[in-house]
Amino acid sequence: MRPTARVPARRRLLATVLAACLAALGLALAPPQQATVHAAARASEGVLLVDNGDPAKRITLVLLGDGYTAAELPRYRTEAATVWQALTAVEPFRTYQHLFDVRRVDVVSARSGLRAGSPLGMHFGCEGIARLLCADADAVSRRAGGSGGPQYLIALANSSAYGGEGGDATTTLAAGSPDAARILQHEMGHTVGGLGDEYDSAPGAPAEHAPGYPNLGSADEATMREQRQKWWRWLGATDPSGGAVGAYLSANGLYRPTRDSIMRTLGGVYNLPSREAIIESIYRQVGPVDRVDPAPGTADGRPMLRVRPVQLVGPRRIEVTWQVDGRPAPAAAVGEDSLDTARLELTPGQWTLVCATVRDTTPWLRDESFRAARMTSTVSWSLHG
Ligand SMILES: [Zn+2]
Repeated sequence: MRPTARVPARRRLLATVLAACLAALGLALAPPQQATVHAAARASEGVLLVDNGDPAKRITLVLLGDGYTAAELPRYRTEAATVWQALTAVEPFRTYQHLFDVRRVDVVSARSGLRAGSPLGMHFGCEGIARLLCADADAVSRRAGGSGGPQYLIALANSSAYGGEGGDATTTLAAGSPDAARILQHEMGHTVGGLGDEYDSAPGAPAEHAPGYPNLGSADEATMREQRQKWWRWLGATDPSGGAVGAYLSANGLYRPTRDSIMRTLGGVYNLPSREAIIESIYRQVGPVDRVDPAPGTADGRPMLRVRPVQLVGPRRIEVTWQVDGRPAPAAAVGEDSLDTARLELTPGQWTLVCATVRDTTPWLRDESFRAARMTSTVSWSLHG
């Protein structure tokens, strides 16, 4: 946010008030958010299956199929739709689903099933692991095209075998498997949350495998708490998987946050540390503000100021709070996601600064420095009395 100051006195005033406004909240300024006509940014490839807004401000899941002949495309489309249903059936994807768009690209294969020379080069047995399903990342990326914003590419194989892979540029899934939906939920934990496997047979060797994963550790509960590492903020919390968050030792020598979870057993739920990791990943890519009107800066006259946060599914809303010259705005002027400046008493000849702070107050996050940095955004306008 850069106030367009024209006179030095006003610049000083703005700087002072803004500093006060931000210091009180412990916030950083966010760049201006502007309404965008997004038709032009629409991807050239495929069909927008789920349209939750401008792809530049959303994370786009791009679905592509391999090994489907033209005659099999209707089944591919059904399987592609299942991917989104599966993902939004689990938290936190359910609540945060409006931060995603979904685009489906129809790729026609000459022959049915996974065979050498298929358009996306999908095959089982990569890295010597039978159920690991790989794709030719370049081919997938080329076919996917761009969205003007962040994307995850999900390649669906026309196969009823059991398999998939997450965590890389391309997430893969054997879309015809009876377990496809549950595998996808697990794999997207790797891909979006950067999560590790919590099952006993996952690779152990703490020094190599634990450091990068938010849900795997090499320290017991007491050490974790003492050193404030990994999921220490969640220790003792009641987890949606049942039981309390702690440090549970797996047979491979690594600790995990809960007795069970989706990263340990298909069909489970993400435990609290994993949920937080996914939410943080989403907010590293998109912000909490959808639209601001009028544009931040100098506002002429006595406009209605509007800020629309991204919408959540469920009972919770992203909070918008208003301040006038560093103090809470009078209640009479504040509406839902709006402030009526005609209801403010402005001092003739003086500049007044109005700030709107948009903040996701979810209890699914305990890393407050992250919330302040990435899940909070402030916009401001200056009005002349
Ligand atoms: Zn896994």
